[in-house]
Parts: sequence; structure tokens; C-alpha cells
Amino acid sequence: MVVYREYLKCDVCEAITAVRTQIGYLDQHPIRIHCGRCGTLFDGLIVIDQKRGNYSLTFHNASQVRGKTLPKPDFIIESSGELLTDKLQVYKDDESFACYTPFFKTLAEIDRFEMSAFIDYTQKFLEFRKNRWPRIRRIHDIWIDEKHEYLAKELREYLHEKTFPLDNELEYLRGVNIITLSVFFDLLNKERFSSNSKFVMDEISQLANTNLTNLMKLVNYFEANRLIYKYESKLLKQLNRFVVIFPHLIPVFGLQFYKQIPRDLSVKKGLTTVSIEDLKQFYVDTYETLAETIDLIVSFNNLKHRGDFEKMANRRRDIKTMSDFIVKIKSKGIKIDFIDGSEAFDKLIDKMLNNKIRNAIGHNSYKFDGISQLIKFYPKGLQDESDVEEMYLLDFARCCWNLFLCIVDLYTLVYQTRKIFLVISGYSSIDPKLIDEHGIFKY
Ligand SMILES: [Zn+2]
Repeated sequence: MVVYREYLKCDVCEAITAVRTQIGYLDQHPIRIHCGRCGTLFDGLIVIDQKRGNYSLTFHNASQVRGKTLPKPDFIIESSGELLTDKLQVYKDDESFACYTPFFKTLAEIDRFEMSAFIDYTQKFLEFRKNRWPRIRRIHDIWIDEKHEYLAKELREYLHEKTFPLDNELEYLRGVNIITLSVFFDLLNKERFSSNSKFVMDEISQLANTNLTNLMKLVNYFEANRLIYKYESKLLKQLNRFVVIFPHLIPVFGLQFYKQIPRDLSVKKGLTTVSIEDLKQFYVDTYETLAETIDLIVSFNNLKHRGDFEKMANRRRDIKTMSDFIVKIKSKGIKIDFIDGSEAFDKLIDKMLNNKIRNAIGHNSYKFDGISQLIKFYPKGLQDESDVEEMYLLDFARCCWNLFLCIVDLYTLVYQTRKIFLVISGYSSIDPKLIDEHGIFKY
């Protein structure tokens, strides 16, 4: 694998950073580096001509230094579009900087077979993102806008006639669900996804068998108020936002292929594909979307543990029913406190949402250290040192990746809730044996 070296002069403080870029398998990827002296973000894009073996690099806030005699750099960093890298260091001499590339260093953590799978899934998803995602986004838009007359035609491009008749609302729901999951399937943590999907399906099926009357009360409540529809459209929109930021998170996706993730990974390793600026909006919007679905999670907990979706756990004297919960608690941060892992459906969202980080981002109250890649979040504003949360950029990026996985889990819960409503309302679904016989997709 080829490694190119570039010298970047900071437009603000003129410090020089040597950037060793590993040219990997991607045709292009973002680069994010902070100046080690003044902290300015150099955000750039590298475009690689894989056939000719050359590349072009463009940056904001820094200029490339050219010439036969190059100055001694002040800092040095390695960069990669696919892998974690060593963090920025003060430059001493070339020998003191690690001579192995990020690729060789990562081979100690990911075996070659898994590395091939990682590269394969990444390239496939990037190709899909570029060429086919606009069509799927269109299907989502048509579904959200309830333009069913166009939906069947769009879905028919992909889905088999025998297994997806596409002739009623239940069929449209099934069609959109299978297309959506198939898009993201390669990126999912398969163990987590199959465990959580099985949990949702088993729980709903058990409730249908043992307490159908109260299950229908729950389902009817969320249908009648159009809440379930609102959750679904917001979750689909967040999946769309995830597709946009995916190139920034490729090294985080790679962690799923590690033999074991070292405990001190985020202390020692960093990212050069992403800055907090690239992720903060995704974090805030996903937080808001997931926090809204807490009403549904709490309702399922009430039904499972107390037999009635209205009956709240005994936590606060003034919150006895679901209506109390909805009417009296307006703050999403307080709602999140009701999800603490003590009840069954909490597992779909438990510990994923941090109100302090959300508030700090919302108020632009955070600081980033470009050398350590440590982010400090100040939920009460930059002047107030209390309640400060610290997190490495790598951990924040992992948090955003986990939020994506959480969106998929919640989408499954919403799907199963809508499905049970339609089935009980009289829509009939196809015989699952037909799927074994004909498959799902046309191609
Ligand atoms: Zn600088």
C-alpha cells in the first residue's frame, strides 16, 4: 500500500504539519486534521485515481508546501480513509514516528479474512450510496407522503410478484421494510440485530396471544394519534442522514471486525476522517428522534410488566398513567431517565442517549483538543465547569454509529407495531412458505 507525504502550512499560525496518507481502496474520502499549535481544523478531501496510482488533495485553512527543500515540520500525523490512525504528534525526526502503515498496524487487530469482508462491505455500501440510494430515498418519501399509487410501481422494480403482491397497505409496509433493511444489513452488528429483532417479534407475538385486548389498546392509541406514523417517518429520515455521514464513519464500522477491541483504543488511536462538526447534527437529530419514541417503549413496558399500556411503573407519585407521562413530562431529558434498563423494552435504547452531551452541542458549548482528540462537553455553557463530560472523538463517533444501530432497532419495533395493527384490522399477509419458494428480490 502506498503512503504519500504532504506538508500543510496552517493559514492561521503557520505551523507545519506533515501528513502521511495511506492510499487504500477508496476512490475518495474526507480528511480532518487539527493544527497542533492553534487548533484550526483543516478539512479536506482526497480523490484517488486508483488506475493511474495518483491523487489530488484539497484543504481548507491550510496550504500545501511544495519545493525541493521542505521545511522541518512542527507536527506529524498519519491519515487513512478506512482505518484508525496514530494521533497527531510533535515532530522529532522521521525515525521516531511509527514506520508501519495504518493497514499493517490494523492487521494485528483484524485478521485478513475479516479485513476483506470489511473492505468488501464498505465498497459495496459506498457504491450503493452513490448510485442506488436516491431511489430508495424516493421510495421512503413516497411512503411517508402516503402516495400509495406510485409506491407499488417503485417497489415492484425490486420485489418478487409472488412474495410481495403490493396490493394493500400491509403489503406496502412489508415492501418498504424489507427494502430498507436490505440496504443496511451488511453494516449491522448481526448478533445484536438478530437478538433485538427476535426480542421484538417474540414479545409482540406473546402479547397478542396472552393479552390481545390491551395490545390493541396500545396499537390503536399510537395509530389514532398518528404517532407511530410520525416515529416511522423520522426514523427513516435519520437513516437518510446516516447515509450522508457514512464516509466519515468508515473506520468506526471497521471496529466490528476487530478480534477484540483494546480498552485503551480511544486513548491511543484517533480518526482523520471526521471532526465533531461532521457528526454533531446527526447526534442531536437522532437524540430528538429516539427520545420521541420513548412513549412507545414505555407503553410496551407497561403492557408487558403491568398488563396495561397506561399503567406506569411506580417511580414518581404524580406519574401513574401514560397520559400523566405524556402530559406532565415535557422535557426529553427527564423522559430518558425512565429508561434505565430495569424493564424489558429498555434494552432497545438503554444508555444510548446523553442529555448533557445533547445540551452542550445544542448550545455550541464544547472544546476539542486536536492532539489528544479529547472533546469536553459543557452542558451549562463554556463558563460553567460543572457537569463537564469528556469523550474522545473516537468514542463520540462510536456513539453515533451505535445510534444508527439503535435507529434500526426502533424502526423494527415501529414496523412490528404497525404490522400487528394492520393484520388485526383484517389485512392478510402472504404465506411465509412462498418466500422459501420464490425468494424476496427479483434480481
Ligand atoms: Zn495553526
